[in-house]
Amino acid sequence: MKKRFLFLILGVLVIVVFWLLISKGFLLAGDMFTPSKVISVKLPSTNKLAINAKGDIKSDVENIWGKEITKNGKSKIETCFTGDVNSKVKNGYKILLQEKYNDVTNVVLISPLDIELTTPEIIGGRILLREVFSYFKKNNVVYPCENLIINTHFDAALGTAGFLYIGGFGGFNQISLLYHELLHGFFNGYSVDSLWLKEKAASVWPLIIIDNVKKNIPWNLENFPFIPNLKTSFVQGKYEEFTEEGFIYYDEGLVYSDKNVCDLSDPESVQNPDEVYEENNIWGNVFLLDLTVNFGEKSMVDTLKALYEKYSYNVDEKIKDWDFYSAFLYYIKKNNPSKYSEVKVLMDKKLCIE
Ligand SMILES: [Zn+2]
Repeated sequence: MKKRFLFLILGVLVIVVFWLLISKGFLLAGDMFTPSKVISVKLPSTNKLAINAKGDIKSDVENIWGKEITKNGKSKIETCFTGDVNSKVKNGYKILLQEKYNDVTNVVLISPLDIELTTPEIIGGRILLREVFSYFKKNNVVYPCENLIINTHFDAALGTAGFLYIGGFGGFNQISLLYHELLHGFFNGYSVDSLWLKEKAASVWPLIIIDNVKKNIPWNLENFPFIPNLKTSFVQGKYEEFTEEGFIYYDEGLVYSDKNVCDLSDPESVQNPDEVYEENNIWGNVFLLDLTVNFGEKSMVDTLKALYEKYSYNVDEKIKDWDFYSAFLYYIKKNNPSKYSEVKVLMDKKLCIE
C-alpha cells in the first residue's frame, strides 16, 4: 500500500511539473522549432469542391488541391531514421524492446539500464501504443516512418517524425501527452506553417483518439498516472472547459471569441512571447474543438489525414491555414452538407478569409 501511495504522489508531482512546463510552452515537441508566423489566408475563386464518392484519400487530395500535387509520388520524410538503431544507444541506456505495430513501423524503446519491461510506465506505455496503432490501422492512418524510436525516460517531451523523447512515469504512460508527442510525427515544425495548427492538430486529434480507445485500456493507477473520464466524451469535456462559464479555462478560452487568426500576434515579434505563444495555442485549441464538437469528428479526422497526405507528396511545402480551410469545407460538403453554409461563415470569419 505504501509503495502505491508513493507512486501516486510521485505521479501527481510529475504531472504538475509537466503541466507547468507544457503550459509555459517549453516542452511540446514541434516546440523545438521556431514557431512560424500566423498568416491570414485567401481562397482563390477557382477553388472547386468536387466530391469523390469512393472516399479514397489520394483522390480526395486531388479533388481538394488538384492532380499536380500527387504527380511526382510521395516524398521522403527527411527526419525518419534509416540507420542502425544500436547507434542511437548512449552510455547508460539500452534497447529495451523492439516490436512491430501494423505492417510498417518498427518501434524501438530506448531506456535507462535499470528499466525493465515490468516497470509500470513501460507496461502502461506499451498498452497505449498498441491502442493508438490499432486506431491508426482501423482508420487507414499510416505512420510517416518505418522506424519510431522512443526514448522512454528523457526528462522532457518532444516529438517529430520517427522520434519521440518523453519522460517516464507521467510521460510515456500519460495518454494525452504520449499521443500528443506521437501526433507531432505528422504535425510539426517541418510540415505545418502556423503555430496554432501545428500544436493543436497534435492535441485535438489525440483527444478524438482517446475517446475511441479508452474503453479498451485496462486502467489502473499503478500503470497509468492519468485516467480519463470514461463516461463522457473527452473532446466534449475539453471544449466545455474553455467555453462554459465557471469552467477551468473559461477566461483563457475567451481569446477565441475575441479574436480571429489574423488578430493573433507572432510570438517572435513581441515583448511577451510566452503569453502570445499561449494565446495562439488556446485559440487553435478552441477553434479545432469548436469544429469537431459542432460539425463532426469525422470531418476533422478526414481533414487532418488529407492535410498530411498532401504534405507527404510535397514535403517542401508546409501545410497552410488555407489548406485546412479548403480541406475542412470539402469534407463538410461530403459528410454533413446541410451544415456547409454555417461552417463556411464561421471559418471565413475565424481564418480571416475575405
Ligand atoms: Zn506540442
